[in-house]
Amino acid sequence: MTDPLLAFEGVSVTYRTGGGEVPAVRGVDLAVAPGEIVGVAGESGCGKSTLASTVLRLQPPSARVEGRVLVQGEDVLTMRWGDLRALRWAGASIVFQGALHSLNPVHRVGRQVAEPIRLHEPELGESEVDRRVGELLEQVGLPPARAAAYPHQLSGGQRQRVMIAMALACRPDLLIADEPTTALDVMVQSQILGVLAGLVEEHELGMLFISHDLSVLADLCDRIAVMYAGRVVELGAADEVFTRPLHPYAGALSAAFPRIGDPAARYAPAGLGGDPPDLRSLPPGCSFGPRCPRVVEACRSEEPALLPHGAGRSAACIRVGEP
Ligand code: ADP
Ligand code: MG
Repeated sequence: MTDPLLAFEGVSVTYRTGGGEVPAVRGVDLAVAPGEIVGVAGESGCGKSTLASTVLRLQPPSARVEGRVLVQGEDVLTMRWGDLRALRWAGASIVFQGALHSLNPVHRVGRQVAEPIRLHEPELGESEVDRRVGELLEQVGLPPARAAAYPHQLSGGQRQRVMIAMALACRPDLLIADEPTTALDVMVQSQILGVLAGLVEEHELGMLFISHDLSVLADLCDRIAVMYAGRVVELGAADEVFTRPLHPYAGALSAAFPRIGDPAARYAPAGLGGDPPDLRSLPPGCSFGPRCPRVVEACRSEEPALLPHGAGRSAACIRVGEP
């Protein structure tokens, strides 16, 4: 087995707030191999973006992070600033949730794609940088001439392609995509997913792809981790988690998104009652218990561990395997 590109080892993130401590991520173990796409699913507030933010140590000062976040074997959490700066863009880069609105409106998009290249490779000449920008735009399916456009002259899908081009500018080995298609319509969404899948295949990138929509992940990813209230509650091969989920929460997500980009379940899973728990006062036992259709008395005594259930699969539910 090759060394993972990215490995979370016992990662926990707690935000200190005026209203108390928020344990947003709780003991996550997860790895991404080169050439692998790992999906992270879960409703809003389950800790997906918080987990992603630790990869480049981008969490706010109010966050306390425990565990290890290894990128190509190096722990990002204890890395010196100089090494971290080198890692950002060139080692790993992130397409953020809501990035669609983060392009600078007064600069041409080509200049914005060029920015990280100039920063990381100051020795490159003007024409070489222009050539690289054109190449990057082509990689994400935009004509190189679009480099001259301003963000407002582009559609949402084109702007998202520019954001992906920017993330690829320094040829990272690892790409983190945090809900990169959630704001796009279904057609454009599937085009962007196609671009990302093609890039992973062509360049042997590793990708951590975050989405609340399990059907999007089922199509794109090799493996899926389902998060609930800050923990991974199910992990396995993408098609198996989607079509034969073990954890009742994974089951609810898979039933909520019967097909890709289902408009009825655009931002929240349909058919699942209630909300994720308040992280500041988690219920006793299984945190999904209060919403779980299969809950029994024993579920309320302790939080179930994530245990293996067959090859490459694990789930955190005491009722897995029961008829
Ligand atoms: P997701 O990406 O799955 O929607 P997030 O990682 O954004 O989840 O949030 C997880 C939890 O952490 C939520 O309860 C959210 O309110 C909380 N949270 C996120 N960022 C902060 C912050 N900067 N300060 C305090 N709490 C935060
Ligand atoms: Mg998020």
